[in-house]
Amino acid sequence: MTASPTPRTYRVKSFGCQMNVYDGERMAELLADKGMAPAADGEDADLVVLNTCHIREKAAEKVYSDIGRLKKADGSKPLIAVAGCVAQAEGDEIMARAPAVSMVVGPQAYHRLPELLDKAARGERATDTDMPANAKFDALPQRRRAGPSAFLTVQEGCDKFCTYCVVPYTRGAEISRPYADLLAEAERLVDNGAREITLLGQNVNAWTGETAKGHTLGLDGLIRELAKLPDLHRIRYTTSHPNDVTPGLIAAHGEVDKLMPYLHLPVQSGSDRVLKAMNRSHTADSYLALLDRFRAVRPDIALSGDFIVGFPGETDAEFAETLRLVDAVGYAAAFSFKYSPRPGTPAAEMDGMVPMTVMDERLQRLQAAINRDQLAFNQASIGTTCQVLVERKGKHPGQWLGKSPWLQSVHFIGEAAVGDLVTVELTEAGPNSLSARLLQPALA
Ligand code: SF4
Repeated sequence: MTASPTPRTYRVKSFGCQMNVYDGERMAELLADKGMAPAADGEDADLVVLNTCHIREKAAEKVYSDIGRLKKADGSKPLIAVAGCVAQAEGDEIMARAPAVSMVVGPQAYHRLPELLDKAARGERATDTDMPANAKFDALPQRRRAGPSAFLTVQEGCDKFCTYCVVPYTRGAEISRPYADLLAEAERLVDNGAREITLLGQNVNAWTGETAKGHTLGLDGLIRELAKLPDLHRIRYTTSHPNDVTPGLIAAHGEVDKLMPYLHLPVQSGSDRVLKAMNRSHTADSYLALLDRFRAVRPDIALSGDFIVGFPGETDAEFAETLRLVDAVGYAAAFSFKYSPRPGTPAAEMDGMVPMTVMDERLQRLQAAINRDQLAFNQASIGTTCQVLVERKGKHPGQWLGKSPWLQSVHFIGEAAVGDLVTVELTEAGPNSLSARLLQPALA
């Protein structure tokens, strides 16, 4: 490989979950610290970072086709870095198969992207997929930007080893970032304009930390401390595991006004046999009982979940149990996917692959049930008032888009600005968004 001129502009393309979005923002901050600028819309970037997701079906193949398509207007290739979970899982193969790639960097090593760039400038290709716990966060620059709603990764990795999931292999063992670092990063985000912070982790409610006085905190303690920041108005967290829900976290939903009434708690299946085969270590009943406890302290809480249909061996009767669970919960939102094997996971070796046509049909039925409940949840809000955090302009003149406390997308017309918290009356509901009438402009 010949030496490349030092890139001046970059583009980070993040795929997949919110944690990848957070990582993408941090990589952009690192590159900005190195004196680079984001490429303007429609313009070529000297460096493209593909921040990949391994959850996508045929994830690696899609990365190769993305790499193949990357070209500048003059036909030359930009400098290419592959980051994220595909980089972690298949880095060596990417280097072997895609000579256009100069850098492969795993999700726990991207703080060393500037060093890899220096190597690329000398014509060296380099891979870094180490997993040094917490070192990454110590090495990252201070937060630069924050929209009204910001992400803050508090925990990474997972020790649960659900049999279908690659995360324990690509993101490593659970680590919690130190409490003091999180407080400092949250303050910085709020100083930069964040009014809402979503705490992120593969298993966010496994977070644990220690105050300067040596008190151990769980996620609920962190939430209570962050709620003391005067200019922070909203706190959310995702994604949780049912087994790590604590009484303190449930209580926080009833006691901390700034903690939004929304809970994303994946269940994956309504069948106990399937849940056991998935190594989920909860049952359908224990999951429902947990939701009841949240509802007891916060009756208006919006519930969200994740589902996999067609896990190996799933029968029609077991799928029907999933539909029954959905009926019992009445989700405000949910994500559902067809099972697809991930190499290296125990489920990929299991017998009983469900035929694709059966999976398709089950997914359609599940999504119809979820959409029905989502629409019902939105329709039940019509006529009520709530606060909306304004996130961006809409397509129409004078239109603004934002989020309700229940994470519904809301649009309205009136005087507002990005970052405002306005009071609206919800007037019309579709499955994915609501119209509203502005009642009271911005909260100072
Ligand atoms: S808890 Fe979530 S991240 Fe951890 S193994 Fe299971 S599905 Fe993957």
